[in-house]
Amino acid sequence: MKTVLIIGSGAGGSTIANELASDFEVTVLEAGKPFTPFKGNFALLEKLRYSRLMRDERMIQWLFPAMKVRKTLQNMVLVTGSATGGSTVLSTGTALRNDTALRAIGLDLDEEFAELDAEIPVTVQHEKLWSPMTKACFKVCADLELFPAPLGKMGNFNNCKKCGHCLLGCPHDIKWDSRQILQRALQKNARLITNARVENLIRQGNTITAVKARVGRKKKIYKSDIVILSAGGLDTPLLLQSAGVNCPSTLSVDPVYCQAALIENSNQHRGLCMPFSIRRQGYMIAPYFDTLSFFFNKKWLHSSNHIFSLMIKLADENSGKIDKKGVDKGLGTIDKKYLGEAKELCRDILKTMGAKEVFDGTLNAGHPAGMLPLLPEHIEDMHHPALPENCYVADATLLPRSLGSPTILTIMAVAKRVARKIKDIK
Ligand SMILES: Cc1cc2nc3c(=O)[nH]c(=O)nc-3n(C[C@H](O)[C@H](O)[C@H](O)COP(=O)(O)OP(=O)(O)OC[C@H]3O[C@@H](n4cnc5c(N)ncnc54)[C@H](O)[C@@H]3O)c2cc1C
Repeated sequence: MKTVLIIGSGAGGSTIANELASDFEVTVLEAGKPFTPFKGNFALLEKLRYSRLMRDERMIQWLFPAMKVRKTLQNMVLVTGSATGGSTVLSTGTALRNDTALRAIGLDLDEEFAELDAEIPVTVQHEKLWSPMTKACFKVCADLELFPAPLGKMGNFNNCKKCGHCLLGCPHDIKWDSRQILQRALQKNARLITNARVENLIRQGNTITAVKARVGRKKKIYKSDIVILSAGGLDTPLLLQSAGVNCPSTLSVDPVYCQAALIENSNQHRGLCMPFSIRRQGYMIAPYFDTLSFFFNKKWLHSSNHIFSLMIKLADENSGKIDKKGVDKGLGTIDKKYLGEAKELCRDILKTMGAKEVFDGTLNAGHPAGMLPLLPEHIEDMHHPALPENCYVADATLLPRSLGSPTILTIMAVAKRVARKIKDIK
């Protein structure tokens, strides 16, 4: 049996591990540890706001190692997951198919999405979990003819305890994340090695013969017939660069910017995250309590009970890059135009809801993607010609343009197609 090494166990990595585990000897190398939800006391942490412990968003990793925070050279905060399940464990559980850009390059993923429909429970029937203020917000948006629509949620949300901690890992095992798919791969005899950070790929000619990883304190070499990179939209390009593959400067991140308001007893932090959204050209808006802004942004002075916030998620320009020097990514001219328009809209909504004061959140992002984008000519074999022959990518790096909306399902559908092509050439 041929061997396959998969780097990363997030949306793409878990999916492709499960798809290949019956036909190949699969090993998954995951830089993070087995995921555990945040166990700290939110109320106690709230008291520590503005203390020396909470000076910089990157400090969250001390309390919650599964959340990795970097900053771009332009000071945008980038959040990704570093644990089994990758960034999916931090997600709000929102399910959205967004394959318009993939379809535009000729990639029809209907079959893959149909499989995902059967594999992942999704519900839009969650209104009973909405707080009175969320319901009021929905009504204001509808009255303003913004056509709000409930978002699908992955998992068993009938039993949701409304703790509001989706982003810190669901403590009640209600929310779906990609560990469930990973588990299926392990049941088919795939092997998972955690705390194993791949440092570089070893290339001979047009083949990756092995990868060099740090496992705990030890350095190890793993050889394999096929190597699949699913380390996410930031780490996959870095690993490719270690093997001499140049990635274009087409990084997108779906920047997030919150407009928050003082609304007494709105208690948004204890409700369902992103219950509904408004979709507009260039961005989406959804109610969302931004934990990072709450803890680290000095404008978020009020108690968590009295803050109601709307998230603006931009479909940003694909211009930016990561390399050894860091992440070069800011807002482009068009991004700024859409952000200005979205901020005004949010202010209208919040003021109509009775907000006394509106304040800004911190510019952040959690959907890095697009540094080896699929083009029409790659679809036939799902293999970019710049890649060594036995090396594939199966994560957000392949997305042809920024989605500006939740990504998990779309990445999983792409990973399934990559798996199918690998099985075809077996
Ligand atoms: C806070 C937050 C909330 C989100 N909410 C949603 C949502 O509700 N719905 C939705 O659809 N999307 C959501 N997303 C986006 C979605 O989770 C990510 O876009 C998606 O998981 C990316 O998939 P991926 O496979 O590209 O990478 P990831 O899921 O990030 O997985 C990459 C994995 O590779 C590992 N890794 C990295 N480098 C190495 C290395 N060198 N060696 C070994 N392993 C490595 C990482 O530890 C990680 O486990 C959210 C993202 C964030 C940050």
